[in-house]
Amino acid sequence: MNSQHFIELESKFGAHNYHPLPVVLSKGEGAFVWDVEGKQYFDFLSAYSAVNQGHCHPKIINALIEQARTLTLTSRAFYNDKLGPYEKFITEYFGYDKVLPMNSGAEADETALKLARRWGYDKKGVAENQAKIIVCDGNFHGRTITIISMSTDPDSFKGFGPYTPGFEFIPYNNIPALEKALEDENVVGFLVEPIQGEAGVFVPDDGYLKKAYDLCKSKNVLFIADEVQTGIARTGKLLACDHEGVRPDILILGKALSGGVMPISAVLADDEIMLVIKPGEHGSTFGGNPLAAKVAVAALEVVKEENLAEKAEYLGKIFREELKSFNHPMVELVRGKGLLNAIVIKPTNGKEAWNVCLKMAENGLLAKPTHQHIIRFAPPLVITEEQLRKAIQIIKKSLNEVLN
Ligand code: PLP
Repeated sequence: MNSQHFIELESKFGAHNYHPLPVVLSKGEGAFVWDVEGKQYFDFLSAYSAVNQGHCHPKIINALIEQARTLTLTSRAFYNDKLGPYEKFITEYFGYDKVLPMNSGAEADETALKLARRWGYDKKGVAENQAKIIVCDGNFHGRTITIISMSTDPDSFKGFGPYTPGFEFIPYNNIPALEKALEDENVVGFLVEPIQGEAGVFVPDDGYLKKAYDLCKSKNVLFIADEVQTGIARTGKLLACDHEGVRPDILILGKALSGGVMPISAVLADDEIMLVIKPGEHGSTFGGNPLAAKVAVAALEVVKEENLAEKAEYLGKIFREELKSFNHPMVELVRGKGLLNAIVIKPTNGKEAWNVCLKMAENGLLAKPTHQHIIRFAPPLVITEEQLRKAIQIIKKSLNEVLN
């Protein structure tokens, strides 16, 4: 069975809600993946930063197998012997009183929105149904109806209305706009990505997060950080908010919480906030299942044992320096933090980011354009310096070849 066979199957029997690169993968290990023809690639997407610990990390896979043989799901109708230890572990790891376990990133975002609204009614004294949450232009928080109601990207929201009310939009990386929006006393939360990943790795100005946090505090508004993509060592610190010493009131995690093994997400907050939700008011059949609990502990242990944050910080600098000094006519801009980076492609001679990605795939490196002209580069954080330098050579070679 060759690649074409599997591509045709997906096209015929699957919904057409993605436009993948024409590569069919069948194996992964560390920073590499292999296609069905046996060709090896550097994975520079890491499943949108879910595979920070590398493909099929032995420690995480062992935890998965061991637990899968013992107990996978009880639902929360009963206790299980893995959830409590996981909750203790993750709250100590990130420094919060409580965790609420979910599955996808979107569900964790939805959970945070519900928490903020309920906190607004119960603690801040906002009148019923009046709560507002400030969000940023260009955000990406997932695909549910409420989440696309917060989106400013027509691809995400157009044709899916009516939309959920209660959101105020401000430009990203704009403190005066936040200050003004915070004047509304019905505002209960400010939801922000510390770096806008899907939008094309937009890194805000130094100090933005800290100023935003301080402003929120001065108005008794919750600072809610969506670290689904930026968290868990990706940007060179455990959390991207750590770069500015900001501790979010509500922290949203997903993706790499499982090392890419299964969907695991989490919302962390202190008691004052988390305990506003009472039994029966929120949940998920799979959230907090014993399999996820075991896998998440192993995945988080790997991050510390292998110093992935420090590695991302060190290797990210090399990556940006190399690509900036390359001075290629198609590279308009290089930006990022740690190993979450992007280049902005200047379309040249009819060649765009998509063509560059096809050429890189041909040369053994996988990355995907976002918003037409931006290519995000986010390899697994277990990549070695030697491997990274090889990958950089492939990127440079591909940029040169795409113009010939
Ligand atoms: N939040 C952010 C910042 C994301 O980047 C994503 C996915 O890319 C999500 C939320 C949604 O996560 P999921 O696809 O697991 O629902």
